[in-house]
Amino acid sequence: MSLAGVIVGQPGAAQRRAIAKAITLLESTRADHRTQADALLTELLPHSGRSFRLGISGVPGVGKSTFIESLGLGLIEKGHRVAVLAVDPSSSLSGGSILGDKTRMERLSVEENAYIRPSPSGGTLGGVAEKTREAMLVCEAAGYDIVIVETVGVGQSETAVAGMTDMFVLMQLPNAGDDLQAIKKGVMELADLVVINKADLDPDAATRAQAQITSALRIFTQHGRVRDWKPQVLQLSALTAKGLDSFWQAVSAYREARAASGALAERRRHQAIAWMWERIEAGLKNDFREHPAVRELLPRLAQEVDDGRLPASTAARQLLDARRN
Ligand code: GDP
Repeated sequence: MSLAGVIVGQPGAAQRRAIAKAITLLESTRADHRTQADALLTELLPHSGRSFRLGISGVPGVGKSTFIESLGLGLIEKGHRVAVLAVDPSSSLSGGSILGDKTRMERLSVEENAYIRPSPSGGTLGGVAEKTREAMLVCEAAGYDIVIVETVGVGQSETAVAGMTDMFVLMQLPNAGDDLQAIKKGVMELADLVVINKADLDPDAATRAQAQITSALRIFTQHGRVRDWKPQVLQLSALTAKGLDSFWQAVSAYREARAASGALAERRRHQAIAWMWERIEAGLKNDFREHPAVRELLPRLAQEVDDGRLPASTAARQLLDARRN
């Protein structure tokens, strides 16, 4: 049977191996592998998309893996199949990744109905995000109906994850409210839900943070980004699993409201088109940098811009012209 055939077939050991093989293929940098991966994704596409895609972000130590493990185990108990993927752009620097540590999510990782894949490493954020996005399609084709994409709050990784998921959840610590400055405004605007984890450590601080973030969210969303959903702030203790049910209720309410209004389908359409352009731009930039005339001119012009001897826009025009000639 073809690789795609095994992936869309019955769950089990063979399917797991096929998923791993497919993901390895699409993470490969070899041109022939890329061609095979593209063919495979095209074959899988009609079988993908039938999941709920949940993005979860938070600084290291906030409790993401503790939370995802409890949540995942609970969802599997309810009959779901759960895939956990990660986007960690720093993994190319550290050589590891947020999910690379084998001790994370030990209980979830041995579940038949869970599939956990660490962040691809190497390359730009765009490249890492692209591979995760594609891995998500593979997992969906294999029947995983909940896909969780985890990320750390570095650089633009949160924007990338919000751009590939149906709902974006921001995890905060109980002291977050004391220093709202620390929460990047742009990230707050992406959040469909904010959870304050470790509420067990300091219930008063958690309650304070909940009130502060709630009013901050009200300001950020005043301009009516989403009319059918008002971002909420919940308290949680991932360690004791307290608040997990309310969390899932909120997720389900979001999903129902936004599916009914058509907003969910629209978000996915926008994401697909935005994604296409993002990759076209990345590809064009790459081709541009590799063009012989550009390679020859770039170091000198960049130096002149750096020295303040040449206007940046003039340098850009000269380089673009050099490529055309
Ligand atoms: P991650 O880096 O965001 O994935 O964070 P982890 O899930 O690895 O958690 C970091 C530490 O915080 C671990 O020692 C957890 O046991 C602890 N932790 C996670 N959630 C809670 C919680 O709700 N309450 C308390 N007290 N500790 C927690």
